[in-house]
Amino acid sequence: MVNQPKWNILVVDDTSDNLRLLSETLGQRGYEVQCAINGQLALATIQYGLPDLILLDIKMPGLDGYEVCAQLKANPTTAQIPVIFLSALDEVQDKVMAFQAGGVDYVTKPFQVEEVLARVSHQLTIRQLQVQLQQQNIKLHHLNQDLTRSNQELEQFAYIVSHDLQQPLQTITGFAELLLGLGSSLQTQEELEEYVTPILEEGIRMQELIKSLLNYNRVETSQRKLEIIDCNIILKETLKKLQLTIEESGAIVTAANLPEIWGDRVQIGQLFQNLISNGIKYRRPGVLPKVIISATRKSTEWMFEIHDNGIGIKPENFNRIFQIFQRLHAYQDYPGNGIGLAICKKIVERHRGRLWVESEIEIGTSFYFTIPDQ
Ligand code: ADP
Repeated sequence: MVNQPKWNILVVDDTSDNLRLLSETLGQRGYEVQCAINGQLALATIQYGLPDLILLDIKMPGLDGYEVCAQLKANPTTAQIPVIFLSALDEVQDKVMAFQAGGVDYVTKPFQVEEVLARVSHQLTIRQLQVQLQQQNIKLHHLNQDLTRSNQELEQFAYIVSHDLQQPLQTITGFAELLLGLGSSLQTQEELEEYVTPILEEGIRMQELIKSLLNYNRVETSQRKLEIIDCNIILKETLKKLQLTIEESGAIVTAANLPEIWGDRVQIGQLFQNLISNGIKYRRPGVLPKVIISATRKSTEWMFEIHDNGIGIKPENFNRIFQIFQRLHAYQDYPGNGIGLAICKKIVERHRGRLWVESEIEIGTSFYFTIPDQ
């Protein structure tokens, strides 16, 4: 601790011999030393940078050491700086006053250099431990806040998941019971299908929900490192996966030349897939769906746009749709589980970018996301 070069000590004494002796000795031990020959100058010096410790003479013309110390302790920015008093006064009462003024220690003049150094080092150790403790406390406070937040999220998540899984389960058990009751009275294949089809459909819906939930959960826990990826290649792979949807809907998907970015190839593919498939899914009846993908360079990031000519979204729902399980339509009209955009948001945030929407009802929607440079 004695050889800590980073510590900065302010020595305040109206006797120049003392100032010289202390500043030389402390300087030799690796401390940075500033000097002030009276109380006013000491307070002025502190304005330009806070010392880690102050050696403060008591008896000085003008402001005495007690007054300087009281002013320092009254100011929140300087209150934590430890003050060691230096004085020829050796009365018990003076020492008591020094501690009352906020001093942490007291050295009697004429002082022994080794004693001063030992007391300085001791106080700096305490100070360092205090700072570490404060930092640990702040960290603990933040961790506590994070924990409370994630507990609340988990609670809400469990509630919604169980609710969304209950619904198809009820259909499945309901139809299974009906089927059991009817038993051998079922005559034809059509009759059988009437009861079995909803069971199958709801089973598939549950499978999809579980798959999406696992995907949602995996975004942040992904171990894949970000790398340079060519978005033209990623898009090509994505369109291949969407081939059936594109063919069935007759959608026209066009893309400008896309950039290389710093990203997770699987997640960026998923991002494209969710946004493009939404662009096709939320089409206007009787209107050929068109989706246009483009990217614009913005200072230190790329801004992507996925534009469609679909049903549009009202501005009051612009934030809501990015929350998990939030849907604006009935499953019968537009099937889905409300997880896609929440996954997109997490993916973009993992890439330190932003995702937002602009839209006009019955005209179309643009989803924008940014991906910053490495
Ligand atoms: P899902 O499509 O499974 O419902 P998403 O999270 O992908 O879930 O989307 C949430 C909601 O946002 C959708 O239910 C829909 O109401 C709305 N939405 C998303 N994309 C579009 C779009 N391109 N055009 C119109 N509405 C959209």
